[in-house]
Amino acid sequence: MKLKSNVLEYLAEAAQRTPGGTAVVDEFGSYTYKQLQDDSAAYGAALAKYDVANRGVVIMVEKSYDTLAIMLGTLFASGYYVPVDPSVPPARLAHIVGALGNPLLVTTEETLCGLQLENACETVSLEALHSLRAGMQRRDAVEPMSLSIDPAYVLFTSGSTGVPKGVVVSHGAIISFIDEFVSEFKFENGDRFANQAPFDFDVSVKDIFGSLAVGATLVIVPRRLFMRPQALVEFLDEQRVTVMIWAVAALCMVSSFRAIAGNSLSTVRKVLFSGEVMPRAHLKSLLESLSNAEFVNLYGPTEITCNCLYCRVDRARVDTAELPLGKAFGHCEVMVVDEAGHRIVESGRKGELIVRGPSLALGYIGNREATEKAFVPNPLNSLYGERVYRTGDNAMLTNEGDLVFCGRKDNQVKYQGHRIELEEIDKVFEGFFDVDRCRCAFDSKKNRLCVFYEGSACEKELPKRALSKLPVFMRPASVAKVENMPLNKNGKVDRAMLLELHGEPTKRARAVR
Ligand code: AMP
Repeated sequence: MKLKSNVLEYLAEAAQRTPGGTAVVDEFGSYTYKQLQDDSAAYGAALAKYDVANRGVVIMVEKSYDTLAIMLGTLFASGYYVPVDPSVPPARLAHIVGALGNPLLVTTEETLCGLQLENACETVSLEALHSLRAGMQRRDAVEPMSLSIDPAYVLFTSGSTGVPKGVVVSHGAIISFIDEFVSEFKFENGDRFANQAPFDFDVSVKDIFGSLAVGATLVIVPRRLFMRPQALVEFLDEQRVTVMIWAVAALCMVSSFRAIAGNSLSTVRKVLFSGEVMPRAHLKSLLESLSNAEFVNLYGPTEITCNCLYCRVDRARVDTAELPLGKAFGHCEVMVVDEAGHRIVESGRKGELIVRGPSLALGYIGNREATEKAFVPNPLNSLYGERVYRTGDNAMLTNEGDLVFCGRKDNQVKYQGHRIELEEIDKVFEGFFDVDRCRCAFDSKKNRLCVFYEGSACEKELPKRALSKLPVFMRPASVAKVENMPLNKNGKVDRAMLLELHGEPTKRARAVR
């Protein structure tokens, strides 16, 4: 069998096998594989007019079938897509555009009107792209030229230096993961994947390319339903979904509202979750509600392309044992190393997880320093220049050879499903002339972000000033002025101590919602 070098081959094969099969369902309709192939190719021809080959295409549009066709169209035109949430604050968008160098930005006419980009950037409105696509002829068709080592997408995630980091993932990295993923979990063309994750999260990569790889149906769940758990479950039932590859935060929302009643979701046969530790109470409640489904804990950072570890949930052990991260997928190796870079093979000893394999990202776009810090020469191989990714996650081996999660080495947290480096929030506040020092702390018990600062800024006004600079998910629940920051024994600000000393919101602290 010929090895794939471009993810569009998944689409081409599925469109050839089952042209009339349903590829995608969204709130506006349902679309066959032939339609998806034709529409994506037509978008490719339209985007080629903008010379996007080997160039980033920022797609700042709500997710839908059409958005997916533009993403795949970008790949037809040999570019790489960069999904960005349309509510991104202008300063963050400017960083994204700056890091990408010379991207093309696609968004609605309305959004374009309100945009003031510090970095000049070529733009095309969604409406203009629609008309251009409609006018494409057979002679305009383009052949995708990307090699397996070329980027397919860039996903931006929080950065500790105050600017978001764009993880560059190649066609080959996606293929190496997806092939392993679909064969391990035996997805089939009759499956209906309920897509929960926004397209700017790598959880959605599993939905998109997992369903394309087996010729299944991608059901795009409208975002607004995540505010209405009951309606969400009704929608999933109507759509007879069979596979849910969801972020832990989204599943917990469904379980908190006890939204799965009686015979609901009886078609679901697999629930795969990732992103953070699944709380046991939520897992138990979900297992009870979906008594016939297989549950799997997936682990992995965006930088290794979706996941590198998996663990099938053993229903009989949920009450007694901690849920492990499990074992590595076949395409990669995951090791625990100590501070000196030596491999830890004995059980019960904690170290950092490092990952090697063909699914590693190419690095962070336009950010050599961050790339060199995280993608390092394999400390266990001095013979040739092999790269590994340092996850920053601590873990240890159990006696059964499973890996278990032991927290982070740094100040990265998961809040409402979003990965946040607390330093990014510090830097936004420290960007104000009247803030001398800022430290953000995550109160995991109350699940909220708390900002503390020194300086002359007005405690009442400061939260409002930060609004336009922070994405919604980075906005703190409280902002409090402190006289002095407590230090730990290494002379660094002790964030945990800050919470302990000043964590209770006083009358002065203001919510920034
Ligand atoms: P992201 O790049 O947004 O997928 O976030 C990756 C980070 O989320 C990892 O480095 C871990 O810290 C955390 N994470 C992902 N999956 C799990 C899991 N199953 N259990 C615990 N933490 C997880």
